[in-house]
Amino acid sequence: MISLAHVTKTFAGAAAVRDVSLDIRGARTTALIGPSGCGKSTTLRLILGLTTPDSGEIRFDGAPLDESNVRDVRRRTGYVIQDGGLFPHLTARRNITLMARLLGTPADAISSRLAELTALTKFPADALDRYPVELSGGQRQRVALMRALMLDPDVLLLDEPLGALDPMIRADLQSDLRDIFRSLGKTVVLVTHDLDEAEYLADHAVLFDHGAIAQQGTIADLAERPAGEFVRRFFSAQHRRTGDA
Ligand code: ADP
Ligand code: MG
Repeated sequence: MISLAHVTKTFAGAAAVRDVSLDIRGARTTALIGPSGCGKSTTLRLILGLTTPDSGEIRFDGAPLDESNVRDVRRRTGYVIQDGGLFPHLTARRNITLMARLLGTPADAISSRLAELTALTKFPADALDRYPVELSGGQRQRVALMRALMLDPDVLLLDEPLGALDPMIRADLQSDLRDIFRSLGKTVVLVTHDLDEAEYLADHAVLFDHGAIAQQGTIADLAERPAGEFVRRFFSAQHRRTGDA
């Protein structure tokens, strides 16, 4: 569905993403994992065309990503960031429906889609007319997810969507997200620095180290057959933190 071939992106002389080649298969969930600053968010931004590579090529559904199709790619892609990125001056309902209204979607189609999405994300319909500041963190992320899904995109890009939530709210949303990914069958790319979350939500994991791919496979592959010292250390550090080993 999405492929990167030898993609490098440098900021002020430092490579944020270095020579990354990656195939993201359709209809499954791929997790991009790794420590802070290793290039996960930059990779998502490259896929969305929000930043352009210095070298290498990105393909979306077979076509090279360039100025001629970047708008179409964004239309076919839903994007959720850590704090939701909702417009503070719009209610939940207006945040979710903004793009559809701009595109001239008929009002009855918008309201039936909204009803589907509130059911899917278990969002209370009576909270749709609240502003983001009047919602809990978990509710804001459900709104951000509805906004991303409104136009029924082929691809969902989620950049640490649960990173700012407290543990219980996070666990609830993780289990709801897993159900949502399974029922929708979309191509999902999820950035997280949490191995347990990657294992729970993703079919395939890609571990970055300083902008390069250290290893990819299932979380079990990486845990059982680490490709090197970095992979081994990344796993043992996380397990120490969660007290498993
Ligand atoms: P991650 O999401 O894995 O934490 P990022 O992709 O955000 O990492 O960042 C990778 C590296 O690129 C970091 O060193 C970061 O400081 C740098 N970087 C990212 N975006 C920019 C930018 N717009 N300008 C300058 N440096 C950036
Ligand atoms: Mg990031």
